[in-house]
Parts: sequence; C-alpha cells; structure tokens
Amino acid sequence: GTYPPLRSRIFKIIVIGDSGVGKTCLTYRFCAGKFPDKTEATIGVDFREKVIEIDGEKIKVQLWDTAGQERFRKSMVQHYYRNVHAVVFVYDVTNAASFRSLPAWIEECRQHSLGQEVPRILVGNKCDLRHALQVSTELAQKFADSHSMPLFETSAKNPDDNDHVEAIFMTVAHKLKSQK
Ligand code: GDP
Ligand code: MG
Repeated sequence: GTYPPLRSRIFKIIVIGDSGVGKTCLTYRFCAGKFPDKTEATIGVDFREKVIEIDGEKIKVQLWDTAGQERFRKSMVQHYYRNVHAVVFVYDVTNAASFRSLPAWIEECRQHSLGQEVPRILVGNKCDLRHALQVSTELAQKFADSHSMPLFETSAKNPDDNDHVEAIFMTVAHKLKSQK
C-alpha cells in the first residue's frame, strides 16, 4: 500500500507590502478562515500555517507575516528571507502610496535572491472599499504584466471574497507543487 510521508512538505511563502495594506488579515483569513477581530490582528507572530491537500498530498503552507515590523532589524531579515518558496506582494487598492512602494519591495526581494525565478504574485487588497478606490485594475494589471506576475484583487474583510483569498494561496501552492 501507500504510506504517508513522515513529515508533510512545507511551502514557505512570504507576504510583503507596506504597513496597513492587510497582510495580517489576509494570512489570518486563509489560515483561520475568517477576518480577524481586533485583538487577533495585533498578535505578533512570525508566521501562520495551514495544511492543505493537493493531489492527495498534504502540504503545510506557511505564510510569513512581518508582525508589524515592516522595516526589520538586520538580524531578522536573514531569518525572514531564508528558504522562501514564493513571494506575495500586497498593496491596498485605496492607498496609491502602497502601490508606489511595490518597486522597492520587489527590489528588496531581488537583493535576497527572490527574483523572477521564484513564483511571485501581486495582490490588491481592500476591494470592498470600492468608493475609495485609488489604484485601478488596469494600472495594477499593467504593473503585474511588466513584472511577469499574476494579479489578484481581493478583500480580506468581505466574506463574499473568501474564495478569492483562498484562490491566491492555493494558486501559489499548486504552482509550487507542480515545480517539485
Ligand atoms: P498589515 O499591516 O499589512 O498587516 O495590515 P492589517 O492586516 O493589520 O490591516 C490593516 C487595517 O486594514 C486593519 O484595520 C484591518 O482591519 C484593515 N483591513 C485589512 N484588510 C481589509 C480589507 O480587505 N478591507 C477592509 N475594509 N479593511 C481591511
Ligand atoms: Mg501585520
């Protein structure tokens, strides 16, 4: 018969972007299945995990959040960027400055050997705040194309968009699984 592997595989995915764009809410939403309440959002954890199954294989998806310290101390940086399988860049669709910060985040990743060779995806969060939109889909898509990244627009808050949050991380996991 077939035996399960002794240890499930781990995919380490870092979630990067300006403070306040919703990185913690997105990782929480995927791992816990709901939008965090106030206290949960502020808990300073390094990463959250969720075990998923692809083609019958259990895979531990480890989402690394920056725990409120978007600018790390030097010692933390190495820890964070070690053994990364994929990168999720997040901006806030209601905050143009968070979109303009993306090239700097992409460059920081590139300096840690996380360029085009690793799966990278772009996420525009807070799409539930339609009235406050500052970054159009068209502009974001152009940027995503120029960096060879897929674009997802989502909301960590709106329950109707739950599937989209799920889709983001499942897409990355499928891509990683197919590589190995
Ligand atoms: P982080 O600093 O990138 O980790 O951002 P947080 O996840 O802590 O979220 C920052 C703020 O944005 C919090 O007040 C969240 O409640 C809010 N927020 C996060 N995601 C969404 C979203 O999809 N829609 C709305 N309306 N607010 C959000
Ligand atoms: Mg956070």
